[in-house]
Amino acid sequence: MTIAPYEQIDEGLYCIETGLYRHGLAACYLVRSQDRLAFVDTGAANSVPGLLGVIADLGLTPAHVDYVIPTHVHLDHGGGAGHLMAACPNARLVTHPKGATHLIEPDRLIAGSTQVYGEEGFARLFGAPLPIPQARVIEARDGETFDLAGRPLRFVDTPGHANHHGCIHDEWSQGFFTGDTFGISYREFDTAAGPWLFAPTTPVAFDPDTWLASLDKLMAAAPRVMYLTHYGAVQDPDRLVEGLAESIRALAGIALAEEGREESERETRIKSAVGAYLLARARAHGVTLADATIAELLSLDTDLNAQGLEVWLKRRAKHR
Ligand SMILES: [Zn+2]
Repeated sequence: MTIAPYEQIDEGLYCIETGLYRHGLAACYLVRSQDRLAFVDTGAANSVPGLLGVIADLGLTPAHVDYVIPTHVHLDHGGGAGHLMAACPNARLVTHPKGATHLIEPDRLIAGSTQVYGEEGFARLFGAPLPIPQARVIEARDGETFDLAGRPLRFVDTPGHANHHGCIHDEWSQGFFTGDTFGISYREFDTAAGPWLFAPTTPVAFDPDTWLASLDKLMAAAPRVMYLTHYGAVQDPDRLVEGLAESIRALAGIALAEEGREESERETRIKSAVGAYLLARARAHGVTLADATIAELLSLDTDLNAQGLEVWLKRRAKHR
């Protein structure tokens, strides 16, 4: 049996390493109340055996899982949902209504992801999602609360990173499972100033204004802690939110500076500007790692952010 590395971070709350790319890049969460379980995010298809190992390690079985809740359908968050649902006979899948079709019929999602990662990379990194029977899928309304054996989990619609993104509020810990909405914060960049956050502007539906509004919506609930998929729990969201909002505006600004410029080499220019911006922010935060180490830790996000910004520019051009 494979058991994914995991740790208990609060009462009935476990942060699990999904094993994508490198350790410390993508987590998911297991929430427990009495002997009932809910997953928030799932990693990719390749992550699922390790997640089932965690359930066994806690002395429970897949039959104890009531909910599987991907925050959005990007593969590092929801790619394993179908395999998990197939293994957990009593679970219902809770999703943003705009993500439901992709989980029920993942063909387009697979095609889109193959385009971003290449066929070989896709199979190696993620594994193919399984379709989920429609009858087991709940399309969550904004504010809808799901009861996990007396522990309320509230779905909040938070578009901006993706239009099919929701966050889950955990009343017991006064925290949000934020998927990508509260940004990325790798522990390698922690300094005396605390954690450093930046926004993933991943393809294909980055929308800065909508995202900033979603942040306001989260903060209105006065959360005590945010559980990030990338990576782990960060305390004091009040203190962190402005830095994250600044990164949304700055990254959008990098793209907007390209409007009206010729398109050849655009992606190269955006990518180098994103890399330079992230490096400068890391330095301003007091990170003392070598430039090359910082660039390596951020290489995937730099690529995806640049791609996402370019897609956003194209969408803006089309709508003008
Ligand atoms: Zn993600």
